[in-house]
Amino acid sequence: MTIFDSPAFEGHEAVHAFYDEPSGLKCLIAIHSTARGPSAGGCRMWPYQSDQAAVDDALRLSRAMSYKNAVADLELGGGKAVIIGDSARQKTPALFEAFGRAVEQVCGRYWAAEDVGVSPADLAHARKYSRYVAGLEGHPAASGDPSVVTAEGVFRGIRLAVRRAYGAEIEGMRVAIQGVGHVGSILADKLKAAGARLVVSDIQEAAARKVAERTGAQVVRPEVIFDAEAQVFAPCALGGAISLETLQRLKARVVAGGANNQLASADAGRALFEKGMVYAPDFVINGGGIINVAAEIRALDKGAAYDPAWVEAKLDRLMTTLEEVLQRSKDEDRPTHEIADRIARSRITRQPA
Ligand code: NAD
Repeated sequence: MTIFDSPAFEGHEAVHAFYDEPSGLKCLIAIHSTARGPSAGGCRMWPYQSDQAAVDDALRLSRAMSYKNAVADLELGGGKAVIIGDSARQKTPALFEAFGRAVEQVCGRYWAAEDVGVSPADLAHARKYSRYVAGLEGHPAASGDPSVVTAEGVFRGIRLAVRRAYGAEIEGMRVAIQGVGHVGSILADKLKAAGARLVVSDIQEAAARKVAERTGAQVVRPEVIFDAEAQVFAPCALGGAISLETLQRLKARVVAGGANNQLASADAGRALFEKGMVYAPDFVINGGGIINVAAEIRALDKGAAYDPAWVEAKLDRLMTTLEEVLQRSKDEDRPTHEIADRIARSRITRQPA
């Protein structure tokens, strides 16, 4: 299969591949759309089984960023970078410096930030070679780790979805979290503070144990999280958690979490809807992080400081959009992901005012 045949290609403007022999960097930068502004999206480091798997992931994630940035009403298009490698063993400053040079070669058509396997400290190395790197720490425009705002948005989104599905508040609800990394662990703290009971899983057992020590969560093995007795299932690991198979096993009536590309297929989204479950579309509920990154890009462009009030206003508006998606799904008797896709597509073609 080539890049152009990939089901995730869907009108990408550009896909760049970079190789740097001294550092061993192998990375892809996919730019889905710059219709709303320069593309922006995280950089993921993952030990892909094949180059094709990396291409497909970059394309899927980059397209999702176009939708996410449009739904969050940001003056940004969609793009994403993937570095092929194991973040636990292969991270070096030289690797991220080479990544910074790759970003620079795209001439401002892509802004990089954090995603799975990449931290603000890694991006600080990239920033030495390109100004188009955000989600940093230690300067007035810096927005820091976006996971904090992502988790806040996911928490608020779960609250909305729970109200809709159960007519109740989070307190006393049991929430199953798949993946307790940056987003999942902060989300666990917020849910605990709101009175939820938790069941968590992570392929890194130590991460799950750490969250359990703080929150009293029950820890289960990754393969059985889908069977947990819970009212909410929150995917916060990688994509594809909701498939026709896993859907049969879920007890929850709400699916709402931080992971990108949660639906393994459109069929899974429709089946979820037909079972009467409420799904908070991933690229709506997890837009907090990119809103935070956008605040840094905006501040850098204006020569100003990071503005938390701007972030709060955007996050608030995002939750209004999520409410609209949930309501229209009911009114129009259509799955939430179809409604959200339609809203996003209409905004991608429209230039912001
Ligand atoms: P992370 O790498 O910090 O955390 C992911 C966690 O999931 C890790 O602890 C990993 O061990 C675990 N994991 C992986 N596969 C698993 C499996 N099958 N079962 C259980 N656990 C598994 O990444 P993160 O930054 O927390 O991001 C989590 C998800 O949210 C990703 O899909 C990411 O793309 C998405 N996302 C993150 C942000 C952000 O601000 N960090 C923003 C938007 C979307």
